[in-house]
Amino acid sequence: MFFDPTYLFCVALPAFLLMGATSWYVKAAYKKWSQVRALSGLTGAQAAQKLISTVSYTSDAGAGLRDVRIVGIGGNLTDHYDPRDKTLHLSPGVASVPSVAALAIAAHELGHAMQDSEGYLPMRVRSALVPAVNIGSNLGWILIIAGLIFNWTGLAWAGVIAFSAGALFALATLPVEFNASARAKVMLAESGIVASEEEQRGVNNVLNAAALTYVAGLITAVLQLLYYVMLVSGMGGRRRD
Ligand SMILES: [Zn+2]
Repeated sequence: MFFDPTYLFCVALPAFLLMGATSWYVKAAYKKWSQVRALSGLTGAQAAQKLISTVSYTSDAGAGLRDVRIVGIGGNLTDHYDPRDKTLHLSPGVASVPSVAALAIAAHELGHAMQDSEGYLPMRVRSALVPAVNIGSNLGWILIIAGLIFNWTGLAWAGVIAFSAGALFALATLPVEFNASARAKVMLAESGIVASEEEQRGVNNVLNAAALTYVAGLITAVLQLLYYVMLVSGMGGRRRD
């Protein structure tokens, strides 16, 4: 099963190439727009702070942002929002650099903070799936292998269902990420932090490139799931022969 050529050529290799290509594209977009100075002169952290004070006092939906803190985190492209302590973690290249890429990423993470404060449904669904993904990714294997060993189709299908949590999580990730980017674009434009057409293009480029990685993640998860479906359906076929 581990050395199945079907798995290698239909799942592992396409996933590897797809993830590699999208990750390269994100890094290239990030690198390009990191070198373009923001006309506002604001760093990612300053822009996020400014957006927090603007949005949180001008809209009901933004009121929950008042508690959001901004802290630094090491590494590159490690930026994220942690809903547990309502903290924006910004990497040095975003937090302290006044670039178009930094604005885009800081505003995107703030978009997640807004989703959190509003109780945005896809984000809640996604968080609710986390335990299922953790259990399913381990249990799925055990059930499928046990099903194959004991030739028990029902057990193997239970494994496939356990595994499907991963694909559902990847699916739920799309609206969460696309919506955070959409919010980022609106916030940056409405606040006037991004004013020129070139900056707008840069923000779109960085955020759309990042969105592609989540699409690639979903494709990978679906390919993997389809492989298990194929494996387990083949098992039923063998038994009928
Ligand atoms: Zn995101």
